[in-house]
This record gives sequence, C-alpha cells and structure tokens, in this order.
Amino acid sequence: SDLRPVTVIGLGPMGQAMATALMRAGHPVTLWNRTPSRADALVAGGANLAPTPAAAVAASQLTILSLTDYPAMYDILGPVASQPGALAGHTLVNLSSDTPDTSRQAAEWATGHGARFVTGGVMVPAPAIGTNEAYVFYSGAREAFQHSEPVLRIIGEPRYLGTDPGLAQLFYQAHLDVFLTCLSSLLHATALVTTAGVPPAEFLPGALTTLTDIPAMIGDGLELARALEAGEHPGDLSTTRMMGATAEHILRTSEALGVDVALPKAVRSHYERAVAAGHGDQDWTALYEVIRAQG
Ligand code: NDP
Repeated sequence: SDLRPVTVIGLGPMGQAMATALMRAGHPVTLWNRTPSRADALVAGGANLAPTPAAAVAASQLTILSLTDYPAMYDILGPVASQPGALAGHTLVNLSSDTPDTSRQAAEWATGHGARFVTGGVMVPAPAIGTNEAYVFYSGAREAFQHSEPVLRIIGEPRYLGTDPGLAQLFYQAHLDVFLTCLSSLLHATALVTTAGVPPAEFLPGALTTLTDIPAMIGDGLELARALEAGEHPGDLSTTRMMGATAEHILRTSEALGVDVALPKAVRSHYERAVAAGHGDQDWTALYEVIRAQG
C-alpha cells in the first residue's frame, strides 16, 4: 500500500472499530494494546502487533490513542517519553475521554517531548465508526491536524474547533450533557406514568415527540444563540413564571408518587432562582442568567 502507516493504541470496542476502518481503507496499521489478545482478529486481517508501545509509536508518524482516559495514556507513553527523542516528530491524536484541563496538560506534556498533539472526542458509538453518521470533534495543533485529516476522515467526519487542546473534550461533554440529561428525563417521566399502571410502551413512543418538538420550538438554534448573547429574553413566548409553575408541579408529583426527585429539583431550582432574580415575566431563556458561570 502507498497509503501512510497508522498506529492505533487501545483496542476497546472503539479502537478496534477505528483500526478496522483504517485497514479497510488500505492503510498499513500497527497496533498495541495492554491486553494483546484483543488484537487477534485485526492481526488475522493483516495488522501488525507491536511488541512494545515504543515500537508501536516508531512504526508510524501518526499514532491514534483510544483509551479509557488520559491516565492510561501516561501509563503507556510515559516509559516511551523517557527514551530521548522517542516521541519527537510524531503526531499523537488522543481520542480518549477526559476533562478539558487534562487534555490541555497532556498537550503540554507531549509537546515538551517534541510530539505534535491533537485531542478528539468521538461523537458516535463504536459500530458507527467509518460510516456517514460518524463525526469527531478535534482541537489542538492545527498543522498536525490538517496533515492527519485525510486519515482521520476515515474514522468519521472531522470537526476541527481550534488550537485550544481543551475544546474537543469541552464540546464532547457539552453534547453528552444534552444527551445524558434527556435520557435521564425520559426514564424519570416513564417512572411517573407507570405509577398509574400505564405500561412504558403506552408512553415512550409519544414522549419522543417532545424531544423533536424542541427543534420545532427553537429552530436551528441561532435565534436562541442571539437571545443568549444579547441577554434579551422578551416575555412574549413561554415565561419563566409559567414554565416554573410546571417545574414545581413535576417536583410535587414526583414527591407524592415516591419517584426520584433529584432531576425535577434541579430543574425547579433554575426557575425558582430566575424568578427570584426578577426574570419571572421574561422568556424561559432567562434561565441562562442563573445557569451560566457568574462573574
Ligand atoms: P474501553 O474503556 O473499553 O477501552 C479501553 C482501552 O483502554 C483498552 O484498550 C484498555 O486496554 C485500555 N486501557 C485502559 N486503561 C489502561 C491502562 N491503565 N493502561 C493501558 N491500557 C489501558 O473504551 P472504548 O473502546 O469503548 O472507548 C475508548 C474511548 O472512546 C473512551 O474514552 C470512550 O469514552 C470513548 N468513546 C467510546 C464510545 C463507544 O461507543 N465505545 C463512544 C464515544 C466515545 P485493555 O484492553 O488491556 O483493557
């Protein structure tokens, strides 16, 4: 193959899917994993299994890491970095999850050892890797990203956010913030209706329309973005006081039915504090004033 060699370190479900997609595209792929047996199927398909992390990094200019978190990267690459020059000139693309600050520190660490460091957050589950649905947020070293972009595109559509290495994980978490909160609310809502003897099947399909009603209400998000940036929350739609009354009812109903109250309490507190801060007659978007970082 005349395509550039790529090294993949970390062969959980995600790393395996990435290695598979890269091999299918024709790239020579070198692997390393703490548990070597997880490479068996890929090696049978033509991948090289490196005996050590240092050999894995040395095999390709570009190394993709897919690990549980960033401490795993230090466990694996720490001993490599202690060999002078072993990381120099190499591009490391870490697609493991962690906090933005951890990503920033790792970028400093890698750069200090002469490597170029790109961080990423994969936005789809492992089976979607290499399909049209896949997309990945990236940030960090711009030229290293651009040089790696044709390879990274095989994994999923790359969305580069900027040179701050923390941005990819910040975007990853922000998307997962929406996702996880919606999933918890669906389960909470199901628990509410089942107290009346209604089976989940009679509730859940209809409940999903509430999720799709959100884009119907806020459009493509740009009007909401404009309101949040301008701090303008005219009360011509759904006011904070009106929505807050409903938030209060959901909390009281949950309490009465013995269903978990943590989520409704958190939601109610946003409305309560927004009303207390004088936003009662404004649009619900005024919640942003109590939610966002103050000062
Ligand atoms: P796993 O946690 O299953 O993969 C773990 C990988 O990290 C394995 O290769 C494991 O090695 C290795 N590892 C963990 N700790 C260490 C350590 N201390 N030293 C050496 N190796 C270590 O994760 P996934 O493959 O599911 O995901 C990888 C990353 O992708 C995660 O950060 C995850 O958040 C993210 N992601 C995953 C998605 C998914 O659908 N799976 C979706 C979106 C993002 P070993 O095999 O030896 O245990």
